[in-house]
Amino acid sequence: MRFDVLTLFPEMIEQFCSYSIMKRAVERDVFRLNVVNPREFTLDKHKKVDDTPYGGGAGMVLMAQPYVDAYESIVRADKSITVLLSPQGEPFTDSIVNEFAQADQIILLCGHYEGFDERIRDIINPREISIGDFVLTGGELPALCVIDAVSRKLEGTLGKLESAEEDSFSNGLLEYPHYTKPREYRGLNVPDVLLNGNHKQIKEFRYQESLKRTQERRPDLYEKFIKTSS
Ligand code: SAM
Repeated sequence: MRFDVLTLFPEMIEQFCSYSIMKRAVERDVFRLNVVNPREFTLDKHKKVDDTPYGGGAGMVLMAQPYVDAYESIVRADKSITVLLSPQGEPFTDSIVNEFAQADQIILLCGHYEGFDERIRDIINPREISIGDFVLTGGELPALCVIDAVSRKLEGTLGKLESAEEDSFSNGLLEYPHYTKPREYRGLNVPDVLLNGNHKQIKEFRYQESLKRTQERRPDLYEKFIKTSS
């Protein structure tokens, strides 16, 4: 897997991938990271990458030329997906993460300021992804969400201790609650069933907790799970 990120702020992406599990994944060559700065591609003598909007209004709009040229400079793999990060995109979910994890390459376009000149969309024809119904200052955090979530699904990123198999959403439900030492903290005890070593009972307890949690917190997911499992 290779992530190519188009951003005006390369350090934001590189820094994040130099810590913890992401750092280990890069070191193990689970994925490669290539960060491209559209500013390097601008034909403007002042290295401008944005300008005021036609029709007036606040903010600066990212110019098409530096973004399109930067995008076209990227060598394409066979199974390549281009993603433009936008609050107007398709909501990012675990099933999209699984789909992206099958690709060889994900090219991520990060916006900033007011966003992209519409012709960037027209020419590149990317998939648009939103990480939620709110507006951030830039696409770098959303791009990192994609890199982090997708790389967790790639073999070699997580060790045995960090398995993703039982994480929330993987089976359509939210995950059950976790406990660690000590057995009692401020009068709150770890449920007995987790201490008895009976794996069948533990599995059943966790499943029931998972169901209960999903029903309480995400009735939409619960309904879907019940429908598909009946
Ligand atoms: N004017 C745009 C709008 O109202 O749709 C918002 C632009 S936003 C301030 C700047 C950039 O941040 C966007 O181009 C996008 O790349 C990124 N961004 C902001 N919120 C996002 C979200 N919820 N999901 C994905 N990307 C987001």
